[in-house]
Amino acid sequence: MSGTHTDARISRQVRRLETLLEERGIVAGAALDEVIDAFLSGASPANGARVVARAWTDPAFRERLLADATTTITELGLAAGGVQPQRLRVVENTAHTHNVIVCTLCSCYPIRLLGPSPSWYKSEAYRSRVVREPRAVLGEFGLTLPEDMEITVWDSTSETRYMVLPRRPEGTEGLAEEELAALVTRNALIGTAAV
Ligand code: FE
Repeated sequence: MSGTHTDARISRQVRRLETLLEERGIVAGAALDEVIDAFLSGASPANGARVVARAWTDPAFRERLLADATTTITELGLAAGGVQPQRLRVVENTAHTHNVIVCTLCSCYPIRLLGPSPSWYKSEAYRSRVVREPRAVLGEFGLTLPEDMEITVWDSTSETRYMVLPRRPEGTEGLAEEELAALVTRNALIGTAAV
């Protein structure tokens, strides 16, 4: 059987499965679109890590990234993705400010760059508490920040997704871009961990 026929058959099967799941109220159409998009696009935190490593090693890229992440990640062959166009905004941690992302309404998340979202990200506890008491919540993740460190919580929407640009760790001056990328974890891209 030719590839085209196989693809068409798989498409029909996926469509039927989608309809079944939606009819039975198991999953909303938009959420399912996101899962399928993630699967087809190779969603992985390795993508976000590549963006971070490039920003750490290329100051001009970093500036473009902070000004317009949606456009700048296409330089690495990446896209913000989503069925509806999404805007990506990258927020940078510094010596004085720490950023953390949440979706207080549901579970919006830059899935192509961070991979499938962890269950705690979607939990009621995280979504409500990280806004009210970010320092305490980050402490529970094992991230203790100095008292004078300002914490900004970014609330995602279906249109705008956020990714954190963590601080480059000390003593990594000699590392190549790929080695730097290997240090970056999904939680560091959410802001619930440091690198
Ligand atoms: Fe959401």
